[in-house]
Amino acid sequence: MKSSGRPSGTGRTTAALLVSVDNRLCHLYGICEQEAPDVFELGVDGRLRYSTRPNPENADATQQAARLCPMQAITLTGEGS
Ligand code: SF4
Repeated sequence: MKSSGRPSGTGRTTAALLVSVDNRLCHLYGICEQEAPDVFELGVDGRLRYSTRPNPENADATQQAARLCPMQAITLTGEGS
């Protein structure tokens, strides 16, 4: 089974969003989890878990989480900018 690359362009700005969090900056405030609970999750062990490739339906919430992160620890790429 091969993954078949990227879909042909439709002219939309829905490029897949890639998420990364700089653990050195992240102070576990949890604001990202409040904004995008389907993408970010603070575990009971005090570690932040997150989806590196959130569903497109969570893109807006993910971008909002990145904007509101007080440490600017969240980096998004592939926003179709
Ligand atoms: S909002 Fe920023 S600092 Fe807070 S847990 Fe999320 S990534 Fe870490």
